[in-house]
Amino acid sequence: MQWNWKTIIEPFKIKSVEPLGFTEREERLKILEQAHYNLFNIKAEKILIDLLTDSGTSAMSARQWGGIMVGDESYAGASSYYNFENVVSDLTGYKEIIPVHQGRAAERILFSIIGGKGKRVISNSHFDTTRANVEASGAEAFDFPVKEAFDFDRYAPFKGNINLEAAEKFIKEKGSRSIPVCIMTVTNNSLGGQPVSMENLKQTRNLCRKYRIPLFLDCARFAENAYFIKMREKGYSTMPVTEIAREMFDCADGAMMSCKKDAFANIGGFIAMNNAGWAQKARQLLILTEGFQTYGGLAGRDLEAIAIGLGEVLDEKYLQYRIRAAQYLANSLLKNRIPVVVPPGGHGVYVNAKKFLPHIKSLQFPAQALAVELYLEGGIRGVEIGTLMFGKRDSAGNFIPANMELVRLAIPRRVYTQSHVDYVVEVFAELAKRKKSIKGLEIVEAPPVLTHFTVKLRPINAAGVGGRRKLKAELSD
Ligand SMILES: *Cc1c(COP(=O)(O)O)cnc(C)c1O
Repeated sequence: MQWNWKTIIEPFKIKSVEPLGFTEREERLKILEQAHYNLFNIKAEKILIDLLTDSGTSAMSARQWGGIMVGDESYAGASSYYNFENVVSDLTGYKEIIPVHQGRAAERILFSIIGGKGKRVISNSHFDTTRANVEASGAEAFDFPVKEAFDFDRYAPFKGNINLEAAEKFIKEKGSRSIPVCIMTVTNNSLGGQPVSMENLKQTRNLCRKYRIPLFLDCARFAENAYFIKMREKGYSTMPVTEIAREMFDCADGAMMSCKKDAFANIGGFIAMNNAGWAQKARQLLILTEGFQTYGGLAGRDLEAIAIGLGEVLDEKYLQYRIRAAQYLANSLLKNRIPVVVPPGGHGVYVNAKKFLPHIKSLQFPAQALAVELYLEGGIRGVEIGTLMFGKRDSAGNFIPANMELVRLAIPRRVYTQSHVDYVVEVFAELAKRKKSIKGLEIVEAPPVLTHFTVKLRPINAAGVGGRRKLKAELSD
């Protein structure tokens, strides 16, 4: 059935439900204080609408839950592995299919094999765990985003693309022998879930062939990317998304996937490729820390759920609803004069806190301040993408302002309905009315690594001048 109605409906009905965590404002005030104004420290049962991440938070289908029951838990040769292997090799066309417990395990294994000191990995943008695993191997990670990716108010269809000229200049300068792989992240998670065009992927393939550099996709959101290509790129509007996805994989020599995203699974991932030599080394590392090659750190039931999910995500009615959900939230916020990054990406909406709260200085963490107010006002949890998350410091330990202050509202797959989204918009509209009253935050304690997970904060005027001075002394030890 062609769907030509203005209202895009959720293409599912609900068989199993979970209650939401309702709290009173007074309680949320206390919770925030106890959590040191860090939303990672709040118990999930105290959150009403949780937009922290789309990772591992999808609602599985009845068919996936059915798959969970028939999962084959044999140590070796489980039928669930073969179902999984068939689905992944049909989807990608690659020969060697290796399951892992989640995306970062794939990264650790791949970069243990091809990374190392003196090596340089290039990308449209590395996701943070990808970068961390490149660096943990001793190699360096270099991003080549396109310029328009940082112009938050300008519409461009494929802000996730790689800057080919800059990448080629880098390859020429450093020599292709130091570059073991080019990673294309689809969609580009670190830059707002923006898509990469097929044209850009093909040109990247040509560039990589010219310099004999293998090309891998970091394909956590491959189906969302394929649907954007269908919607926005010339020549693809009538091609089935499954074929578009296959054409994307055909551009590359392999892929890594976090199945916690577009496979609707709560856990899982894979590495897929054609290089038998690399695959053999990968399987040896797999046995060392993940598990035997037919389960790789997963239960048989997880492999079954992933295999089914990878089929479901390519349903175009689902993808239409998925992409429209982010657009609906973005447009509704814009109508209420809440500045968001346009166009929205596939998996969430990014509110521009710098623009919304211009009276709060960068070093008073405007995005974190907005995220905190969002929880206080409506029990909604988003995440700061700004100075705290990037966590750069000078030698005295003071934070260096990031060039963006965003609050990401990630949309879990198939979890919330339109009225939940309308509620989020209503809460924002209320915040907009009293935005001048929103104050910045200051640091109480900030550990040096992965700061945003454990940082302790307080409202700016709670400590007074003496408190702030003492704080500087703490940081510089
Ligand atoms: C989530 C994600 C990862 C890491 O996957 P995990 O399953 O969280 O370990 C890697 N790359 C991208 C693009 C991701 O979105």
